[in-house]
Amino acid sequence: MEKVVIIGTGCAGLTAALYTARANLAPLVLTGTMPGGLLTTTSIVENFPGFPEGIDGYELMTRMQKQAERFGARVQFGTVESVDLSRSPFKLTVDGEPVEAQTIIIASGAGHRHLGLESESLLEKKGVTYCATCDGALPMFRNQPLVVVGGGDSACEEATYLTRFASVVYLIHRRDSLRASKIMAERTLANPKIKPVWNSVVTEILDVKKDTVTGVRVKDVNTGAEQVLDCAGVFVAIGHVPNTQLFNGMIDLDENGYVIPKEGSATKVPGVFVAGDCSDHVYRQAITAAGMGCAAAIDAERYLAALNQ
Ligand code: NAP
Repeated sequence: MEKVVIIGTGCAGLTAALYTARANLAPLVLTGTMPGGLLTTTSIVENFPGFPEGIDGYELMTRMQKQAERFGARVQFGTVESVDLSRSPFKLTVDGEPVEAQTIIIASGAGHRHLGLESESLLEKKGVTYCATCDGALPMFRNQPLVVVGGGDSACEEATYLTRFASVVYLIHRRDSLRASKIMAERTLANPKIKPVWNSVVTEILDVKKDTVTGVRVKDVNTGAEQVLDCAGVFVAIGHVPNTQLFNGMIDLDENGYVIPKEGSATKVPGVFVAGDCSDHVYRQAITAAGMGCAAAIDAERYLAALNQ
């Protein structure tokens, strides 16, 4: 029987792991398919306090894991396939194996949102990607025109990163101004290699017949005019979808799938707590996720203390 099972090893999960480990609860921390979470796919993190020069996203997560393990957290590579929250202890199936838990901290994060085009799914990994730091340096993208879709911080970050490799980066955004933070937006638009394509949406990624990306068909949302931009890669950076399907019907989710906590980090199921991007569509920062992980750990610890009195 586990006292605490933490689902997810992003900033929220690993901070919850650190705090529950230091409370002598020896948490079992399950990585899912992306150990370290989405931050491992980012390049330099410049806004996590304590790192004035910035820190590589992968390194930050590796350090967080080491810190949690130092105090007894058990990080296990594994994916939760099902959960039963209908009675305590809670039951989980992790890679086919049963696990019982007195408390669960859901820190399952969010995945990349897709454009939803058929050509997008057919050309995924054949030029369509969701991660510039993972794929940007591939030979197929070197000295080629590349496309980034989106107008938020992620799109700006991806576009800026890709200028290292690309001949030009088209930043295609559906509006006429960026949603990104001021500093990121200014840096992006000042980069001579980045060409914004405003008020435009991608309607098709070419060329499915050739089984590789050769361009995008783009529509101006105001005039309806279409054009084709030649490119060797399409980097989609249009936000995220929370990884909460597993809990549908068991705890409260909003219409977009984000967990709605009842009070603090507590969900409507006593003993089940939530932290990080799977419950936050407002702030979604590494530091806020870490703070939410800390809060969930303290709430879980207090719940267990009351339970075992
Ligand atoms: P985001 O802020 O939600 O931005 C998503 C962008 O994609 C928006 O510009 C949106 O357009 C566009 N979009 C959404 N659905 C679309 C669709 N179907 N077709 C075309 N465009 C679509 O997401 P994000 O950029 O991934 O950022 C998420 C959070 O992480 C934010 O809080 C951000 O600050 C944070 N973040 C921070 C950093 C950093 O500080 N270094 C880096 C990355 C991310 P509209 O603008 O029209 O809605």
